Amino acid sequence: MDEYDVAVVGAGPAGSSAARAAAAAGARVVVLDRAAFPRYKTCGGGLIGPSLAALPGTPPTRASITRVSLSLAGGRRRTRTVAEPCLRMVTRAELDAWLLRSAVEAGAEARVPCRVASVEERPDGAVVETDAGPLRAQVVIAADGTSSRLARDVGVRLSRVDLGLELELEAGPLAGEWADRVHLDWGPIPGSYAWVFPKGDTLTVGVIAARGAGEATRAYLRDVVGWLGLGGLRVLQDTGHLTRCRTPGSPLGCGRVLLAGDAAGLLEPWTREGISFATRSGALAGVVAAGGAPGAVERYRAALSADLLPEMAAGERCLRAFEARPWAFHELIRSTSVGWRQFSRITRGETTLARAVRRRPVRAGLGLLSLGSAAG
Ligand SMILES: Cc1cc2nc3c(=O)[nH]c(=O)nc-3n(C[C@H](O)[C@H](O)[C@H](O)COP(=O)(O)OP(=O)(O)OC[C@H]3O[C@@H](n4cnc5c(N)ncnc54)[C@H](O)[C@@H]3O)c2cc1C
Repeated sequence: MDEYDVAVVGAGPAGSSAARAAAAAGARVVVLDRAAFPRYKTCGGGLIGPSLAALPGTPPTRASITRVSLSLAGGRRRTRTVAEPCLRMVTRAELDAWLLRSAVEAGAEARVPCRVASVEERPDGAVVETDAGPLRAQVVIAADGTSSRLARDVGVRLSRVDLGLELELEAGPLAGEWADRVHLDWGPIPGSYAWVFPKGDTLTVGVIAARGAGEATRAYLRDVVGWLGLGGLRVLQDTGHLTRCRTPGSPLGCGRVLLAGDAAGLLEPWTREGISFATRSGALAGVVAAGGAPGAVERYRAALSADLLPEMAAGERCLRAFEARPWAFHELIRSTSVGWRQFSRITRGETTLARAVRRRPVRAGLGLLSLGSAAG
């Protein structure tokens, strides 16, 4: 049986970041994914500052955003601009293939496509059963996304599951108008919002809302396409995918298994931004795993507690207020210079949601806005 220090299941942003970090720390690493790369992935492909900072260089970028247009449930639009880009757009096919390559360049072995069926812990290591036979690793990093079987085995608990629906449209004659602009619409379903993210010759139009309101979510997507005059564009992809957030006490691993990214339910609950959570948790898991199995889960939890877990908690507070009073967020970002400045500083990574929410007036404001919400 082939032997490794670290086996990584899944080669999305979490898995490839984990494999790269573990290999760079000197471990023998294998990363396995059931898909052949490059592969399509339902995702807006919007990178905020912390996502960019966690990458091993400059990724293949389709657009740099300096204009953000905003609306509330299809109402009047206002466009705000920034001098320095506040977001970068990538396609996940290109980003994920690039990240996997960088893991291989750091020394990890990639086995794709290769499906992992199960992981069994034994005293001398974890046996990873794959469709190409078993292998053994001292530590396994489960980065297998929202449908993670390994996370289920570990007993992950979720506080929230959302359904995201997306259309990939051929931009055609609208490509110029959307070259450096995104659109955000704060939606009619509590906690929902929609986006148009440009990718040069294509536009990604998406909506996200709590799972369980499928028809209303589909209707919202249709409405957004109509409101923005995108109905005539050719549809290249029409897909959906879940996002999920862990409960605060949910396990981050067990024994020889660490969970990273969507598998762990690590995601910013308000915007459902997950790429930075995946790359950062993956890299931390990789470093911890390279240090060996004893105490790995505790070391990993301590590393995540430094900033990712407080950032999730801040996002949860924002989501509660946003669910109750989306118009307040809309007005704050659309009409006040302080709101717009905070929004663009957070997306650029110059400050964090957690830092903003720690400020007493912000905390008090969010508390007031949450009054009367289901959870607040
Ligand atoms: C509609 C939508 C839009 C989004 N837009 C954004 C955005 O604009 N910006 C942002 O930051 N976040 C966004 N997100 C969130 C982001 O897509 C995820 O948080 C991110 O992909 C998580 O990365 P990951 O590596 O944990 O999981 P994934 O990217 O899902 O990777 C998991 C990998 O595991 C593999 N796998 C699964 N099971 C097995 C198995 N048994 N064996 C082997 N391999 C397996 C899969 O093939 C996959 O490649 C969006 C999410 C949705 C649903």
